[in-house]
Amino acid sequence: MSILTITEKGNPVLNKTALPVKIEAINTPKIQKIIKDMKETLASIDDGVGLAAPQVDISLQIFIVSKKVLDKKSKANLNDIVCINPKIVKFSKTKKWLAGEGCLSVRWYYGKVLRSTNVTLEYYDEYGQKQIRGAGGILAHVFQHECDHLKGELFIDKAKDVEYMDADSINSIL
Ligand SMILES: [Zn+2]
Repeated sequence: MSILTITEKGNPVLNKTALPVKIEAINTPKIQKIIKDMKETLASIDDGVGLAAPQVDISLQIFIVSKKVLDKKSKANLNDIVCINPKIVKFSKTKKWLAGEGCLSVRWYYGKVLRSTNVTLEYYDEYGQKQIRGAGGILAHVFQHECDHLKGELFIDKAKDVEYMDADSINSIL
Protein backbone atom coordinates (compact mmCIF):
# COMPACT_ATOMS: atom_id res chain seq x y z
CA MET A 1 0.00 0.00 0.00
CA SER A 2 1.10 3.54 -0.44
CA ILE A 3 0.07 7.03 0.53
CA LEU A 4 -0.81 9.03 -2.56
CA THR A 5 -0.26 12.71 -3.24
CA ILE A 6 -3.40 14.88 -3.13
CA THR A 7 -4.03 16.89 -6.30
CA GLU A 8 -4.70 20.59 -5.83
CA LYS A 9 -7.08 23.04 -7.48
CA GLY A 10 -5.58 23.98 -10.83
CA ASN A 11 -4.74 20.38 -11.72
CA PRO A 12 -6.89 19.52 -14.79
CA VAL A 13 -7.78 16.07 -13.39
CA LEU A 14 -10.05 17.84 -10.86
CA ASN A 15 -12.08 19.42 -13.67
CA LYS A 16 -12.60 16.26 -15.73
CA THR A 17 -15.57 13.93 -15.65
CA ALA A 18 -14.21 10.68 -14.20
CA LEU A 19 -14.70 7.45 -16.15
CA PRO A 20 -16.90 4.67 -14.78
CA VAL A 21 -15.19 1.48 -13.59
CA LYS A 22 -16.16 -1.69 -15.49
CA ILE A 23 -18.05 -3.81 -12.98
CA GLU A 24 -16.04 -6.92 -13.88
CA ALA A 25 -12.84 -4.97 -13.20
CA ILE A 26 -13.70 -4.16 -9.57
CA ASN A 27 -12.12 -7.36 -8.28
CA THR A 28 -8.91 -6.99 -10.30
CA PRO A 29 -5.63 -6.28 -8.48
CA LYS A 30 -5.39 -2.90 -10.22
CA ILE A 31 -8.69 -1.53 -8.89
CA GLN A 32 -8.25 -3.21 -5.49
CA LYS A 33 -4.84 -1.54 -5.13
CA ILE A 34 -6.34 1.87 -5.97
CA ILE A 35 -9.00 1.32 -3.27
CA LYS A 36 -6.42 0.21 -0.67
CA ASP A 37 -4.14 3.14 -1.45
CA MET A 38 -7.05 5.60 -1.28
CA LYS A 39 -8.10 4.17 2.12
CA GLU A 40 -4.57 4.44 3.44
CA THR A 41 -4.20 7.98 2.07
CA LEU A 42 -7.47 9.11 3.64
CA ALA A 43 -6.62 7.46 6.96
CA SER A 44 -3.31 9.35 7.00
CA ILE A 45 -5.07 12.73 6.98
CA ASP A 46 -6.46 13.52 10.43
CA ASP A 47 -9.17 15.91 9.27
CA GLY A 48 -10.03 14.05 6.05
CA VAL A 49 -13.44 12.40 5.89
CA GLY A 50 -13.86 11.82 2.15
CA LEU A 51 -11.60 11.24 -0.84
CA ALA A 52 -12.46 10.97 -4.54
CA ALA A 53 -10.13 9.26 -7.03
CA PRO A 54 -9.42 12.46 -9.05
CA GLN A 55 -7.95 13.85 -5.82
CA VAL A 56 -5.19 11.26 -6.15
CA ASP A 57 -4.82 11.87 -9.90
CA ILE A 58 -6.96 8.90 -10.96
CA SER A 59 -9.86 9.82 -13.22
CA LEU A 60 -12.18 6.97 -12.22
CA GLN A 61 -15.58 7.04 -10.53
CA ILE A 62 -14.50 5.91 -7.06
CA PHE A 63 -14.75 7.65 -3.72
CA ILE A 64 -14.15 6.66 -0.12
CA VAL A 65 -15.92 7.94 2.98
CA SER A 66 -13.95 7.54 6.17
CA LYS A 67 -15.41 5.49 8.99
CA LYS A 68 -14.52 8.54 11.10
CA VAL A 69 -17.78 10.09 9.87
CA LEU A 70 -19.74 7.02 10.89
CA ASP A 71 -18.02 6.52 14.24
CA LYS A 72 -19.75 9.59 15.55
CA LYS A 73 -23.11 7.88 15.33
CA SER A 74 -22.35 4.31 16.30
CA LYS A 75 -19.95 2.37 18.43
CA ALA A 76 -20.08 -0.57 16.01
CA ASN A 77 -16.92 -1.72 14.27
CA LEU A 78 -17.49 0.14 11.04
CA ASN A 79 -15.47 0.25 7.85
CA ASP A 80 -14.81 2.98 5.34
CA ILE A 81 -17.53 3.17 2.67
CA VAL A 82 -16.19 2.52 -0.83
CA CYS A 83 -18.45 3.87 -3.60
CA ILE A 84 -17.81 2.90 -7.21
CA ASN A 85 -19.81 4.42 -10.09
CA PRO A 86 -21.98 6.25 -7.55
CA LYS A 87 -25.16 8.01 -8.57
CA ILE A 88 -27.45 10.07 -6.38
CA VAL A 89 -30.87 8.81 -7.39
CA LYS A 90 -32.86 10.96 -4.96
CA PHE A 91 -32.26 14.42 -3.53
CA SER A 92 -34.48 15.76 -0.75
CA LYS A 93 -36.40 18.88 -1.74
CA THR A 94 -35.23 20.40 1.53
CA LYS A 95 -31.91 22.14 1.01
CA LYS A 96 -29.71 24.06 3.38
CA TRP A 97 -26.70 26.32 3.04
CA LEU A 98 -24.36 24.09 5.00
CA ALA A 99 -21.48 25.89 6.64
CA GLY A 100 -17.92 24.72 6.92
CA GLU A 101 -17.56 22.79 3.69
CA GLY A 102 -13.93 22.39 2.70
CA CYS A 103 -11.82 20.18 0.43
CA LEU A 104 -8.44 18.46 0.66
CA SER A 105 -7.74 19.82 -2.83
CA VAL A 106 -8.59 23.41 -1.88
CA ARG A 107 -6.69 23.93 1.36
CA TRP A 108 -7.55 25.96 3.50
CA TYR A 109 -10.74 27.52 2.23
CA TYR A 110 -14.17 26.96 3.73
CA GLY A 111 -17.56 28.13 2.64
CA LYS A 112 -21.31 27.57 2.64
CA VAL A 113 -22.75 25.30 -0.04
CA LEU A 114 -26.42 24.69 -0.81
CA ARG A 115 -26.97 20.95 -0.27
CA SER A 116 -29.93 18.62 0.03
CA THR A 117 -30.36 17.48 3.62
CA ASN A 118 -30.99 13.86 2.55
CA VAL A 119 -29.96 11.84 -0.49
CA THR A 120 -30.18 8.27 -1.75
CA LEU A 121 -27.01 6.91 -3.33
CA GLU A 122 -26.71 3.93 -5.67
CA TYR A 123 -23.22 2.52 -6.10
CA TYR A 124 -21.11 -0.62 -6.33
CA ASP A 125 -19.07 -1.55 -3.29
CA GLU A 126 -15.49 -2.82 -3.32
CA TYR A 127 -16.75 -6.40 -3.81
CA GLY A 128 -18.73 -5.46 -6.90
CA GLN A 129 -22.09 -5.65 -5.11
CA LYS A 130 -24.72 -3.07 -5.96
CA GLN A 131 -25.79 -1.02 -2.95
CA ILE A 132 -28.47 1.56 -2.26
CA ARG A 133 -28.00 3.73 0.78
CA GLY A 134 -30.00 6.60 2.18
CA ALA A 135 -28.10 9.29 4.03
CA GLY A 136 -28.76 12.40 6.09
CA GLY A 137 -26.57 14.73 8.11
CA ILE A 138 -22.86 14.81 7.37
CA LEU A 139 -23.00 11.61 5.29
CA ALA A 140 -25.47 13.22 2.85
CA HIS A 141 -23.16 16.22 2.72
CA VAL A 142 -20.09 14.08 1.96
CA PHE A 143 -21.91 12.01 -0.70
CA GLN A 144 -22.85 15.21 -2.58
CA HIS A 145 -19.36 16.71 -2.30
CA GLU A 146 -17.66 13.52 -3.53
CA CYS A 147 -20.13 12.97 -6.41
CA ASP A 148 -19.34 16.52 -7.52
CA HIS A 149 -15.64 15.59 -7.69
CA LEU A 150 -16.46 12.77 -10.11
CA LYS A 151 -18.24 15.32 -12.35
CA GLY A 152 -15.20 17.59 -12.27
CA GLU A 153 -16.78 20.12 -9.91
CA LEU A 154 -15.18 21.74 -6.87
CA PHE A 155 -17.18 23.12 -3.93
CA ILE A 156 -15.30 26.42 -4.11
CA ASP A 157 -16.96 27.21 -7.46
CA LYS A 158 -20.43 27.22 -5.91
CA ALA A 159 -19.73 28.21 -2.31
CA LYS A 160 -20.60 31.54 -0.73
CA ASP A 161 -19.09 33.32 2.26
CA VAL A 162 -15.75 31.64 1.55
CA GLU A 163 -13.17 32.11 4.29
CA TYR A 164 -9.54 31.16 4.62
CA MET A 165 -8.84 29.28 7.83
CA ASP A 166 -5.69 27.81 9.26
CA ALA A 167 -5.20 24.18 10.18
CA ASP A 168 -5.74 24.73 13.90
CA SER A 169 -9.25 26.10 13.59
CA ILE A 170 -10.90 23.30 11.66
CA ASN A 171 -11.74 19.71 12.34
CA SER A 172 -13.24 18.04 9.31
CA ILE A 173 -12.72 18.32 5.62
CA LEU A 174 -13.93 16.55 2.54
ZN1 LIG B 1 -13.16 17.62 -1.98
